[in-house]
Amino acid sequence: MISVRDDLRALKGYHSAQVDVRIRLNTNESPEPPPAAFRDAVAAEVSKIDWHRYPDRAALALREAIAESHDVDVTQVFVANGSNEVLQTVLLAYAGPGRTVATFEPTYQMHAQIARVTGATVVEGERADDFTLDPVEVERVITESQPHVVFLTSPNNPTGLVEPVERVRQMLDIAPGLVVVDEAYAQFSDWSALELIDEDTPMVVTRTFSKTWSMAGARLGYLIGPSWLVAELDKVVLPYHLDAVKQIAGRLALRFVSDMDDRVSQIVAERTRISSALADLGTTVFPSGANFLLFRPDGHEGRAVWQGLVDRSILIRDCSDWPRLANCLRVTVGTPDENTAFLDALGEVLAGGFTTFETSQNGADR
Ligand code: PMP
Repeated sequence: MISVRDDLRALKGYHSAQVDVRIRLNTNESPEPPPAAFRDAVAAEVSKIDWHRYPDRAALALREAIAESHDVDVTQVFVANGSNEVLQTVLLAYAGPGRTVATFEPTYQMHAQIARVTGATVVEGERADDFTLDPVEVERVITESQPHVVFLTSPNNPTGLVEPVERVRQMLDIAPGLVVVDEAYAQFSDWSALELIDEDTPMVVTRTFSKTWSMAGARLGYLIGPSWLVAELDKVVLPYHLDAVKQIAGRLALRFVSDMDDRVSQIVAERTRISSALADLGTTVFPSGANFLLFRPDGHEGRAVWQGLVDRSILIRDCSDWPRLANCLRVTVGTPDENTAFLDALGEVLAGGFTTFETSQNGADR
């Protein structure tokens, strides 16, 4: 029988517990849908699609709208099915067998995962105990491994920390290859590496419609980078990879910037409220520039706290047995009501309360 490639045999898939609960705060989605006017506009345009024809292969109108929103040239924009596919395309083009990819852990697991799937060697740098990135460690990893691609996630997932501009500049100074700044959560923070993009810098910034734009269901992400690099990605990605519906949805979403800004301000305000409430409950909370917070319920077992919340029909992300994240949990900022329910339930769990709700475990791990 055919067996999988030797280098893939030991690889584990990407897992996230899926449990039927009342309140889901585990995958960093937006708690609110896009406005009704957006849905109406999409429905009207979708009704005019030429279904028997392939979509615009270059997704030009969508790329133009994204380019305009960031004040860059349309040739500097690449689009794909979620930023995961953007990252995959980058790694297919610039990683692969015989090449090295550097990450700074803990960080978004898919960077190392996709790099390994392409056959590249992954070198993992370490963050400090407070999850900040020490410039000495950055220098060590890059100098020793000479990576073809180095990743920086800002704000970082799952820690929430925003990297200072000096860290990106340092990487650009010493990295021999491509610097990828993953900004899936950039709109929730006050700094973006987009300002460093130009035609002479081997750096890209990746973004997603899944979080701020309330469009996780559409699977749409993009990258801003030098046009010569975007041209290489266009060679690698499959023809007609972006369907007509998604091209329409992405383009129209960008007309609703003020709704997006309102959602972001509410989430940032709620993040501040949750953060201080978590500290008041005696947990260690890490500073976040994203739509989630990482916290450590010191004096309690992280897994038991997670289960206590599930018993109260609230699902957050259990990172407690991930490498370097001992006892940590991650909560996505939800609606004000969801956040209050979460904080009340957590207070109960930490105080040793017992109230339980009906939950059913569907067993699927994703
Ligand atoms: N990058 C980071 C840092 C993320 O947290 C995520 C989603 N969890 C992604 C990329 C992928 O997002 P999507 O594929 O939905 O655009």
